[in-house]
Amino acid sequence: MLHEKMEVALNKQVNAELWSAYLYLSMSYDMANKGFSGMQKWFAAQAQEEFEHAEKFANYIMAANGQVKLSPIDEVRQEWNSVKDAFEDTLLHEKKVTAMIHNLYEIALELKDYATQSMLQWFIDEQVEEEETARDILDTVLKIENAPAALYMLDSKLGARS
Ligand code: MG
Repeated sequence: MLHEKMEVALNKQVNAELWSAYLYLSMSYDMANKGFSGMQKWFAAQAQEEFEHAEKFANYIMAANGQVKLSPIDEVRQEWNSVKDAFEDTLLHEKKVTAMIHNLYEIALELKDYATQSMLQWFIDEQVEEEETARDILDTVLKIENAPAALYMLDSKLGARS
């Protein structure tokens, strides 16, 4: 049912989503080290979401009668220079993920794999949101980066994420 080329590409995306979870978990711990407990919580929730993305891809592979193959996860960066640096990296990373999802869609088009195209639609929409969220937070950080009080207010706002 699932073309081998599609299966390989989807398994690569499972790994990429798990890597994203690692990346955000690493940012979460770095924010904790920097004393931003709200951002620690925000990035931990972000990591959890990435783990759910990995599971969504894995569940689809199984539903389409493919085989999930988990491969090793590459190391992630462990420290960021500032809050601004972390959110710049977040936006950059989400743009890369968007390109990966679009690439998967291209493969599904090429293979006339309509089921995978339909599944990917959710991720295409999700990426618009992911980029928008990262861009919004980064915009705020850029305005307030030299005002510690404002930065701490943003920290507690981001900590309210459930
Ligand atoms: Mg994701």
